[in-house]
Amino acid sequence: MLRYLAGLALLSALLAACVGGGDEPPAPTATLEPLPTAVFDEFAVGRPQNRVGVGDVERALARFEPTRGDLIDAFRDQGWFKDGLSEDESIFIERSLSFVAGHPEPSFESIHPQAVSDKLYLYEKLPLREREVDLLLIYEPGDDAEAQFALLKAVIAQLEREVGIEWPEPIITVVNGRFGINDYNSNGFIRIDRCCSLSAFILAHELSHVYWTAGPFWFNEGMADIYATLSLQALKDDPPDPWGGFNADIDAFFAQRKSVVDASGFPELLLTNRFATDGLYQAADVFLLTLRDIIGADAFREAARDVYAASDFARLSIGEKRLEDIFLRYTSAVDVDAVMGLFNREVWGDNGEEYRRLQEFEGS
Ligand SMILES: [Zn+2]
Repeated sequence: MLRYLAGLALLSALLAACVGGGDEPPAPTATLEPLPTAVFDEFAVGRPQNRVGVGDVERALARFEPTRGDLIDAFRDQGWFKDGLSEDESIFIERSLSFVAGHPEPSFESIHPQAVSDKLYLYEKLPLREREVDLLLIYEPGDDAEAQFALLKAVIAQLEREVGIEWPEPIITVVNGRFGINDYNSNGFIRIDRCCSLSAFILAHELSHVYWTAGPFWFNEGMADIYATLSLQALKDDPPDPWGGFNADIDAFFAQRKSVVDASGFPELLLTNRFATDGLYQAADVFLLTLRDIIGADAFREAARDVYAASDFARLSIGEKRLEDIFLRYTSAVDVDAVMGLFNREVWGDNGEEYRRLQEFEGS
């Protein structure tokens, strides 16, 4: 049996940027102003996302016929389509159409033609803490989809434990292809480039974005790295078959990221001014893990959970001022100066003037 040691995982993570429109924080979809009862979906507040139309083939065919007729025709040509659709076939078709429609590329650059003809997908319902969620993997010929699927399942369950809040999305769709990028897109779609379908770290990073999309870009990327590492570290002694284990270790990860930032030649660049080429990912990791060192792992976990709760399952954006407020709530009195100093140095670029200005502005 093949056994995968994720020895290259951390290294390959340095090479694979997770950037693009899909990583942008979503626009706020609610306001703090009370809304008229008639349009206020009271039930949705404080609840995970509920996506409509998943697996609704008729709706998807009608909706995407004008732009994705090529993919629709390919589905209609298949014997497995003509003899009636099972539940998982319906989900495969609807998710494929919704996925390709989210990208400007031609349909068959996003979905491999053989994935359609040979039904190259794996699908399962995962029993999580509060509810079952669906996992769909659409892969390419030659992929070891079973191994990849086993890892995705284990990491999803572990991430829910690490964050401590119910898994947000009812369905996750991972698509393998020649994308030149790995990224998380809204509605639970993940693109995995050919390079990386068995990179435990990259898969875990993209899955972590199911939680971490509502903050500033640097925060989302840093949290995705950290929660990927924590999840794989937790699974290292009991890895899913056929994985042999993971070399993830949060302290080693911190040290390695710090050495990269220190050697970069611009360790003092503000997080808000960095791009991926300026060591944004590494600097965000170092910032957040320094914060974790100061306030302690338990307090960091609680604060992170509060940040996510404050976003209301990513319906609201969380800015830097709010982040500092929340982390300060979990900081012992003796460490307040250190935490504020860290934010001033790496986020605001001053001696606390901007944070105080924002406090006055908010009247807090
Ligand atoms: Zn990312």
